[in-house]
Amino acid sequence: MAEITIQIKGYKCERCEHEWVPRAKEYPTICPSCKSPYWDKLRRNERGKQ
Ligand SMILES: [Zn+2]
Repeated sequence: MAEITIQIKGYKCERCEHEWVPRAKEYPTICPSCKSPYWDKLRRNERGKQ
């Protein structure tokens, strides 16, 4: 038996860093943990930081 690694596509919330694997095929609209609709948007720091 060969050993393989199966990678599952998942998502990570940029707000609370929660990671999850969606059951539905649709792109998640909110983070299931913090319920933020901006879970996939990086928080923009004020002017030029980062
Ligand atoms: Zn979150």
